[in-house]
Amino acid sequence: MITIIGSINMDIAIQTDIFPKQGETVLGNLFTTIPGGKGANQAVAAARLGSNVQMIGAVGQDAFGNELYMNLKNENVHVGGIQKTNNSTGIANILLHNNDNRIIVVPGANFDVDQKMIDDNMELIQQSSLVMLQLEIPVETIDYVLKVCEDLAIPVLLNPAPAANFKNEWIDKVTYLTPNETECEVMFGEDYETVLKQYPNKIIVTLGGEGAAYFDGNQIIKVSGYKTKAVDTTGAGDTFNGAFAHAIIDGKSIEEAVQFANVTASLSVEKFGAQGGMPRIEEVLMRLE
Ligand code: ADP
Repeated sequence: MITIIGSINMDIAIQTDIFPKQGETVLGNLFTTIPGGKGANQAVAAARLGSNVQMIGAVGQDAFGNELYMNLKNENVHVGGIQKTNNSTGIANILLHNNDNRIIVVPGANFDVDQKMIDDNMELIQQSSLVMLQLEIPVETIDYVLKVCEDLAIPVLLNPAPAANFKNEWIDKVTYLTPNETECEVMFGEDYETVLKQYPNKIIVTLGGEGAAYFDGNQIIKVSGYKTKAVDTTGAGDTFNGAFAHAIIDGKSIEEAVQFANVTASLSVEKFGAQGGMPRIEEVLMRLE
């Protein structure tokens, strides 16, 4: 069982030719609501591959909350650990304008994921072979989960996004850390090769179309990405993380898991939307052949 403790958001996207100036009203072109949040995205990615996944998180008692809850349920994610709180459901308000975007995230209920919620779900956590975290819930909760997992000797995969919330003291407590290249630089202030060499078999840096890299104790292993035509790379990292976790739980080595995750993520970038492009296991196996 993979347990994901993280964010559940509705992505509200507006595509417009004109950004409104202060006090101005303009007409936009397109409006969409798409389930997102790094926690929920990674849960869906792993569940589509056939992993047994449970989600611990929070939504509001509003229409978005119900929709996101049902969405995860329909994706075969166990939703027993999702609470409905008095806050509004987390949203990301995305303004798309040509190749530019402006995003406002309101965490809402995601910030209700606190120590008590972790304690309430302790039985679920105890059944986990891997706990997955991102940084869209309060840092105090991350602190607490890492302590709990250390006590229970449960491996943790931390996807440090957004990287600004990362604390260096967490490194020793996690089994895997999966920044992208930019996040790695924000966190450590050094080029990724220098960083990797300090943490053998722990940090896996994703490198976009180039794939991903880690240090095996002797050398940096660069696992090439699967060459494809990318249409929308939103959620590529989330797909990579869900797939990497799926493969690790399946007993694969880091190198095999990274290769599996690269191929899975390459399928996701061929379609629009974060969850929209996440493939099922059959599609991945076909590409791996
Ligand atoms: P993030 O989405 O977090 O910014 P990356 O851009 O590093 O992370 O992408 C994560 C993974 O998705 C990569 O390691 C790779 O496997 C895959 N990926 C991303 N972009 C492409 C692409 N253009 N072609 C093929 N695979 C890609």
